[in-house]
Amino acid sequence: MTLTRKLTALEKKWCLKALLDAEVARPDICERAVEKTLLISTLPQPYKLHGPRSLIAHIALSQRAVGITLGRKVYITSRLFDEDGGLPLSLVIHEVTHVAQYFRDGHLGFLARYLKHYAQGLARGLKDHEAYLAIPHEVEARRVEDYLKQHIHDRELAQVRTLYH
Ligand SMILES: [Zn+2]
Repeated sequence: MTLTRKLTALEKKWCLKALLDAEVARPDICERAVEKTLLISTLPQPYKLHGPRSLIAHIALSQRAVGITLGRKVYITSRLFDEDGGLPLSLVIHEVTHVAQYFRDGHLGFLARYLKHYAQGLARGLKDHEAYLAIPHEVEARRVEDYLKQHIHDRELAQVRTLYH
């Protein structure tokens, strides 16, 4: 069964703090990303997608990604959801950063830049995985995750299923 849900209040709080601290986008865009994100418990099949979205899915799946963000829809492998729909907070924050990037850059802008930087990495002689990690959108998403690791307190961590995966 496919589960689809929005962010919990706790996820919203931490995602917004981290996005604002990292200055990913204007505050209203960060808020919109946090409000609009949909977490969906299945990964998309690239052959069912069209255009650059299918390339993004191919890249992500070839890196054994557990999450793929396409617009406000975040597809996450179902095994990472617990019975209550809980997810690792660091994963949620990483993917919500991509939603904010889509809103900031526009869908086509995001897809075009993401693919261009990946291709440039390969052209520089990087291996697939290095080229993926070097995409500025991925670098930025990891920076936002770092905020969480530095700022979340033990008391609140106890309310979150898992922080590190
Ligand atoms: Zn990513």
